[in-house]
Amino acid sequence: MHEVSLCRQLAAAVTRATGGRPVETVHLRVGELRQVVPEALEYAWTFVVRGTPLDGSTLSLDHVPAVLSCDDCLLQTRLGPALGFSCPACGSARTHLSSGEEFVLTAVDVHDEDPADHARPAGDDAQRGLPDGALSPS
Ligand SMILES: [Zn+2]
Repeated sequence: MHEVSLCRQLAAAVTRATGGRPVETVHLRVGELRQVVPEALEYAWTFVVRGTPLDGSTLSLDHVPAVLSCDDCLLQTRLGPALGFSCPACGSARTHLSSGEEFVLTAVDVHDEDPADHARPAGDDAQRGLPDGALSPS
């Protein structure tokens, strides 16, 4: 279950980025070739972060399709399960993946508990469209 080790690396990166502040949502770009099962990743996340400052945070996955680029004719094509790594247009073997291998932390929504913030108009959370109960009350 490689989702666990991915979540451990991710938790370490998020902790470095936020300095222990309470985190609401962690945004990720995940390439198709990573073969990550979203449900397994989200489940792994809940127990990897249990008891840490990231406890109660949720993952938001942005899926990136695998795209093959041809160095000869410059065609870009979506890599399907039946395709090899040669160009479907000109047959060239000089190709490279231009996307699909990402596992990148793109943004973190931090729940700021600074009392000064309570003077701001309400509605910040609603605008972000987070579901009710995304944060554990404890
Ligand atoms: Zn080509």
